Amino acid sequence: MHYAKPGSTNSIVQFERRYDNFIGGEWVAPADGEYFENVSPVDGQVFTEIARSKETDVDRALDAAHEAKEAWGATSVADRARILNKIADRMEENLEKLAVAETWDNGKPVREALAADIPNAIDHFRYFASAIRAQEGGISQIDDDTVAYHFHEPLGVTGQIIPWNFPLLMMSWKVAPALAAGNCTILKPAEQTPASINIWLDLVHDLLPPGVLNVVQGFGLEAGKPLAQSDKVDKVAFTGETTTGRMIMQYASENIIPVTLELGGKSPNIFFADVMDKDDGYLEKAVEGFVMFALNNGEVCTCPSRALIDESIYDEFMERALKKVKEIKGGDPLDTNTMIGAQASEEQLEKILSYFDIAKQEGAEVITGGNRKKYEGDQAEGYYVEPTIFKGHNKMRVFQEEIFGPVVSVTTFNGYDEALEIANDTLYGLGAGVWSRNTNTAYRAGRAIQSGRVWTNCFHVYPAHAAFGGYKKSGIGRENHLMMLDHYQQTKNLLVSY
Ligand code: NAD
Repeated sequence: MHYAKPGSTNSIVQFERRYDNFIGGEWVAPADGEYFENVSPVDGQVFTEIARSKETDVDRALDAAHEAKEAWGATSVADRARILNKIADRMEENLEKLAVAETWDNGKPVREALAADIPNAIDHFRYFASAIRAQEGGISQIDDDTVAYHFHEPLGVTGQIIPWNFPLLMMSWKVAPALAAGNCTILKPAEQTPASINIWLDLVHDLLPPGVLNVVQGFGLEAGKPLAQSDKVDKVAFTGETTTGRMIMQYASENIIPVTLELGGKSPNIFFADVMDKDDGYLEKAVEGFVMFALNNGEVCTCPSRALIDESIYDEFMERALKKVKEIKGGDPLDTNTMIGAQASEEQLEKILSYFDIAKQEGAEVITGGNRKKYEGDQAEGYYVEPTIFKGHNKMRVFQEEIFGPVVSVTTFNGYDEALEIANDTLYGLGAGVWSRNTNTAYRAGRAIQSGRVWTNCFHVYPAHAAFGGYKKSGIGRENHLMMLDHYQQTKNLLVSY
């Protein structure tokens, strides 16, 4: 199936010519009247204009959130849960519309947006609607006459800054728990992918009281920085690059407010020798796990971008893996058969191409790919690259730096200890994969890898009820899971002597 291009008469998505900010329940033009052009990576053409917000606009949104926070914080958890569930229902009713909007804005294959991104975003609203109702306070007996009660309270107003690789999913990971916990929020989408959030807002904004959810668009230094720096913000949740995360932490430190940082990664994916033992369903699954480097065009913080393969199986395993990579169908992201689409922006395309040069200069072997991909017709000006496999060693830049494209750097190891040494030889610690039929090996490796998420015998699964977050330079705090609510709440201890 092929979805019609947004804007065309038979498309289910019609973007407005121009989008303002959403503040206090209304669309509000930026104070200085400036807008920036939003380009679709699918065809390289401008399709809408977006408010280019500054400190005044951020401040306006913060005031609206402060006005709303008392009433929203006082709503019953049952009422908040009901609203979150309604948001999820509206999203589900409009799944295709949201998926097409997301694809047009970001370039990802629509089949992934339909099957993973949007359903996962919906599930986050449902999960936190349930989680907030299941949350209990605590009572501890201190002595015969004294009891300590623990209460959960909202933090107040939260600032949420998200990246461009999963616009709607990252929105849901932040907005759902913040609202469930009784906070009002200001969301700052990434300047590369601001459009699909507006399609979503159009669908759901009437469900929330004015000021509870505000969206301020714009660039990092112009809109993100004043948000993270403001003394009217009680918490900043950020997903993006490690270097930006460091700045966010500095801004927030001025006001001594908590931060959650979900940052970069360079995930190892380890294939132990026993994956080759039998040519059965397991081996096929492991090969598919290798190919996950191309999911979402490789623009995933947990992209399995370093494959570590036992040297005794390297030739045989790579032969199968390469065959699978050759089957990845590239092309028009709006076609449901397309498996790899357009990179999210021209800047990202240039970054990936620069790493193709770096790899060659470093002496990495190009097993496949390593070039820009050109298509005819509507995609001629879009931002496409070939799925790429490099072979080299872990000290190379293509093994150490985040490329954020459909690129995997492959190396070999000799034995368990060397595999773990290579896996942990990175600044990052976000995701990792372990493939072994031996549950003992898989368990030991899973525990020994310094990373917040280790998939064993699977990869790229993100259930709302499994904690997600980074070790080392990959971040601070966790998202998803019940423990996420702690990041959006104060704990009040009332110690009573009777
Ligand atoms: P980025 O850091 O450039 O931008 C992220 C967001 O921060 C954008 O909205 C941007 O406008 C804003 N921003 C930039 N500079 C800012 C500043 N000085 N103050 C305040 N806000 C600022 O990241 P990106 O390029 O959009 O996203 C890609 C990165 O995100 C990758 O490193 C990827 O690994 C990471 N990521 C991490 C996770 C995770 O869960 N750990 C998930 C997705 C993406």
